[in-house]
Amino acid sequence: MSDLTIGIDIGGTSIRAAVVDDRGESMDTLRAATPATAQALEHCLDRLVGELGSRWSVSGVGLAIAGFLTRDRSTVRFAPHLPWREARVAEEMSARVGLPVFAEHDANAAAVAEWRFGAAGHGQNSLVLAIGTGIGAGLVFDGRLYRGSYGVAPELGHIVIVPDGRPCSCGKRGCWERYCSGTALVDTVVELLADAEWGRSKLADESAADPGSVTGRRIAAAANEGDPLALAAFASFASYLGQGLAMIADVFDPDLIVIAGGVGRASGLYLDDAREQYAAMLTGAGYRTLARIRGTQLGESAGMIGAAEVARTMLSDGATATRTAGDAQLARAVLRD
Ligand SMILES: [Zn+2]
Repeated sequence: MSDLTIGIDIGGTSIRAAVVDDRGESMDTLRAATPATAQALEHCLDRLVGELGSRWSVSGVGLAIAGFLTRDRSTVRFAPHLPWREARVAEEMSARVGLPVFAEHDANAAAVAEWRFGAAGHGQNSLVLAIGTGIGAGLVFDGRLYRGSYGVAPELGHIVIVPDGRPCSCGKRGCWERYCSGTALVDTVVELLADAEWGRSKLADESAADPGSVTGRRIAAAANEGDPLALAAFASFASYLGQGLAMIADVFDPDLIVIAGGVGRASGLYLDDAREQYAAMLTGAGYRTLARIRGTQLGESAGMIGAAEVARTMLSDGATATRTAGDAQLARAVLRD
């Protein structure tokens, strides 16, 4: 059996696929825009696997999917930004491409990758937060992925952190990801602009001239240049990040928290402030051991690398494409060293 597997991270706007080895190294990477229909999406995935499979000898495929999967990962129940509904994605793809295929929630895949190869370095209770458009979360709890009773845990982006706060696409108000994400940074800038004068801010001038030009990425670049408006937006972000982490730590008491995702790369702008807020808001502050809070080592490749690792581990455990992954098998995916 080849040591190489293909990992594919299927996001709402783009798809990244790579051939990955058993040390988490990507050998050959492809990208594509995410098609809008299920048929076009499946055709695109088959084409990526066909192309990579023609260049490398691979033994299986792992898919990191941004959506709700059943606990056994056999079925994608719903994915807000993908066309699949109650779809047996892995089994059907396996029949088309002739390789074993395994599906995993994207944040769980990222948590597996950070745990095996990255910043989470085999922590016993580690939380990986993927902060981008929203917040995705993967939790390694007592050395294994924690999924909850029905496969949806941990859905941390939608815990309410500001009662009656900003509206969220989930239907609630004040969700954590509405204050602590790339898109939230943009909303914070709009609110700060309405609240005060920002005479020396280039970002404020740009926003006045063309409000649509302000993105999370632009705010991070402005903050790196010392722009006061951008720095104030990151101070707000850091404060909500620290507060949310303190709430989560009161439930799970993790030893390690890794901040990944698109905003994870800008961790130098907020991580120290978030740590301070976290330490101050924690119940029993000063009398308990603080979790280490780190930036990602794998960046936006974590989901893709983790998907490949899930496939490799499932294959080495003797699973077949049509046999769904049991908890014990996934536990070994995280426990194996
Ligand atoms: Zn929400």
